[in-house]
Amino acid sequence: IYAKVEKGPAIEVFALTQAFKDDSNQNKVNLSVGAYRTDAGVPWVLPVVRKTEIAIASDESVNHEYLPVTGLDPFTSAATELVLGADSIAIKENRAFGVQTISGTGALRVAAEFLHTQLNRNEVFYSNPTWENHHKIFSDTGFTSLHSYRYWDQSKRQLDFNGMLADLDQAPPGAVIILHACAHNPTGIDPTQEQWKQIADLMEHKKLFPLFDSAYQGFASGDPDRDAWAVRYFVSRGFELLTCQSFAKNFGLYCERAGNLTVVQQHASTKAAVHSQLTLIIRGMYSNPPAYGARIVSAVLNNPALRQEWMDCIKQMSSRIREMRSLLRDKLVALGTPGNWDHIVNQIGMFSYTGLNENQVRYLIKEHHIYLLKTGRINMCGLNTGNIEYVAKAIHAAVTA
Ligand code: PMP
Repeated sequence: IYAKVEKGPAIEVFALTQAFKDDSNQNKVNLSVGAYRTDAGVPWVLPVVRKTEIAIASDESVNHEYLPVTGLDPFTSAATELVLGADSIAIKENRAFGVQTISGTGALRVAAEFLHTQLNRNEVFYSNPTWENHHKIFSDTGFTSLHSYRYWDQSKRQLDFNGMLADLDQAPPGAVIILHACAHNPTGIDPTQEQWKQIADLMEHKKLFPLFDSAYQGFASGDPDRDAWAVRYFVSRGFELLTCQSFAKNFGLYCERAGNLTVVQQHASTKAAVHSQLTLIIRGMYSNPPAYGARIVSAVLNNPALRQEWMDCIKQMSSRIREMRSLLRDKLVALGTPGNWDHIVNQIGMFSYTGLNENQVRYLIKEHHIYLLKTGRINMCGLNTGNIEYVAKAIHAAVTA
């Protein structure tokens, strides 16, 4: 029965992590997988998360009953408020609500299913490049018209804004446009506020549907309000939209799959029907979401003191990343590595699109045991004061080889 199944391609990021694990060289560095590491190179359980876990574990009233299909209400309301803002007009007018999802990926998958089956959308546009799962999620859902819009100018190592607008201008009315809310993965380059305004003008004029992917709120700049600026701006303009939130990075809850799909509508009256259809979609996919991560996020966001502790944690993570950006740029400049490396400090969030080409990437892996994606994307969190000198010298060697 199974003999005809063909082996599928490896998923690059997981294959690299396996190769890294199998590598016995003691200088090896993993710059591929998208997870935070401390300066000691190890995963970090946020202290406020650990504290909250212990409190939940010792709370006798907590049990393991099923959650409702659309999740834990205090979690979805706190998550919705986090992305739209406490003073959001859409929340005040009861035009926004959230449903809990299996992290950011699950939010995207439920959103895609809803757009496809309920709103008859079949056309989606994502940036070139983008997080590679965007294509797979929408194609698996049944979207047959999948396109990319220009985003990265490889020669200038910056946003190709004119190309982006020109490509969006070609999208038919009703097309779903995936926008990274902040800290674009993989380039680390976001539009400026002025550019976001122009994107909104075009999308309003062309009647395009914004789907925000918000995987790095707070983790990017250390300020959740700043990182949500684009989403809130679109809401203030009166757009109906969806936002897919992940709590993997900003709470360090990668494996706990805490996510939220926020729906912003023009009229409160559509909520009952939309909510009921999302409920049915989730029911058929996985029935109801896991509670563990959502309980932690909910406990932290709904308690002012714990929330402040979380704010301190995200500041700590984002400033360590910024420090690594400056250090890497400075070291490459000091080494006299050919090229301009300012893009490393101008980019934001977990990733940097270094501009290294496939040959240089192969050289780094083979000769220096430094693992990164073939696009030249590196996870800044894999760098630390102990390995940055080694990595900078290896990049220098790769560029001058
Ligand atoms: N969107 C983007 C742009 C991402 O980078 C990620 C995480 N790599 C996700 C969504 C989803 O992550 P998760 O499902 O782990 O929340």
